[in-house]
Amino acid sequence: MALTLYNTLTRRKEPFDPIDAANVRMYVCGPTVYDYAHIGNARPVIVFDMVFRLLRHVYGAHHVTYVRNITDVDDKINARAAKDFPDLPLNDAIRRVTSATEKQFHDDIAALGVLPPTVEPRATEHIEGMKALCEALVQRGHAYVASGHVLFDVSSMPDYGTLSNRSLEEMEAGARVEVAPYKKGPMDFVLWKPSKQAGEAGNEKSEPAWPSPCGISEPGRPGWHIECSAMSEKHLGPEFDIHGGGIDLVFPHHENEIAQSRCAHGTPVMARVWMHNGFLQVEGEKMSKSLGNFITINELLATKTFGASQWHGRVVRLAMLGTHYRQPIDWTAERLLQARATLLDFADLLSGVDAAGEPNADVVAALSDDLNTPSALSIIHGLAKSAKRNPEGAAELRATLEFMGLYGGETRDELNVGVEVATVDAAKVDTLVAARLAARRAKDFKESDRLRDELAAMGVALKDAKDPQTGEIVTTWEIAR
Ligand code: AMP
Ligand code: ZN
Repeated sequence: MALTLYNTLTRRKEPFDPIDAANVRMYVCGPTVYDYAHIGNARPVIVFDMVFRLLRHVYGAHHVTYVRNITDVDDKINARAAKDFPDLPLNDAIRRVTSATEKQFHDDIAALGVLPPTVEPRATEHIEGMKALCEALVQRGHAYVASGHVLFDVSSMPDYGTLSNRSLEEMEAGARVEVAPYKKGPMDFVLWKPSKQAGEAGNEKSEPAWPSPCGISEPGRPGWHIECSAMSEKHLGPEFDIHGGGIDLVFPHHENEIAQSRCAHGTPVMARVWMHNGFLQVEGEKMSKSLGNFITINELLATKTFGASQWHGRVVRLAMLGTHYRQPIDWTAERLLQARATLLDFADLLSGVDAAGEPNADVVAALSDDLNTPSALSIIHGLAKSAKRNPEGAAELRATLEFMGLYGGETRDELNVGVEVATVDAAKVDTLVAARLAARRAKDFKESDRLRDELAAMGVALKDAKDPQTGEIVTTWEIAR
């Protein structure tokens, strides 16, 4: 099966040709673990899980290595740790924040039908590799030491800017005016930086610190970009097949990863194919805490959002895959409702059906065309139609949905979790309505009003009308919306 993928580096769709078909290698930038992951973060997690599943299908489950890292050294983590655990030494506080957040992330994405990656390295476990990269870059004339920092010298790399398709001149022209005085060029970026010590620059506590590379005597910590260069090298080698992440990471993060890895190893490419998912917005607006539309994966799964008290993880996954990964997604209640209705139909068709055989070949072909999930899903709707008539079709439907992580034997009721259905005891309502009517006829308005209030508290709305023939008052009732 020919696989084609859109490559951000070349800006076109290309046939995928792995370096080693016996070990296809993919790296995806993972979360910075300081807070709950939001539904925008769920997008790359689901999209690249789908790529992982497809690669395993095409090359064999034991012939794919998928690395998704955990960033556990970062200013946002430090700030969170100091705020949440002010009485602990900073390093202990950081460990509390990162281990709790990491566990929450794993629980949340497991509910979305996401497979664990082959390796999930942590930045703090790869500091030596980062230091070795700093040393190599200085030795090869691509980096320099200044004021306790190691900085990458972008002027040393003639094709810096290829991924984001911008020349160094353009970038420099757009650079902010305020450039740190120790930088040789305005676009030079940090590989290693000093850690602030307690008492320094208003800092109450010492930041995490490691012995520095390149002859720097003060302790320090890595810059952001160097982490991924070190972790991908360690687990996938200096050259590998696919590198992924959200579109916002193209510049500067991925551009700088490429600069570091290629210049340190003297290689022509870091990853052959660069894949980027489009952004997710909520009901037409950029997700932000100030707009009040910032929603975490956990809230979607466990609390009231988008008009339901909960959404099942498979519903969230289907809602996400309904749009091609490179397009922007607008996340709405409508999208979730549609996904849920679809999965309920599938669950009805599949109850008592075992998966058999391979996933449908047309679905695999659609996914092999740059992960065309909307096309795959429309083929699946066709499969569901024919599954209504023949049991073999149902078995194939189940195998296909399982392959895509969209079904795991859930019942209709499990998938329908969180639907608000107001239930009332109809017989009791009828009795109360009749009693109210009797009170009215007896002109006991106090009692009839009390009964109306009691019914309202049960969620029942009353409608009084005159019977045109008899002139009698007739009361009907319905569940209040
Ligand atoms: P961060 O923790 O912000 O570094 O993001 C982790 C991953 O989520 C990266 O691959 C980002 O590109 C991606 N991401 C963040 N926000 C969104 C969003 N609104 N839509 C899609 N992807 C996002
Ligand atoms: Zn990265």
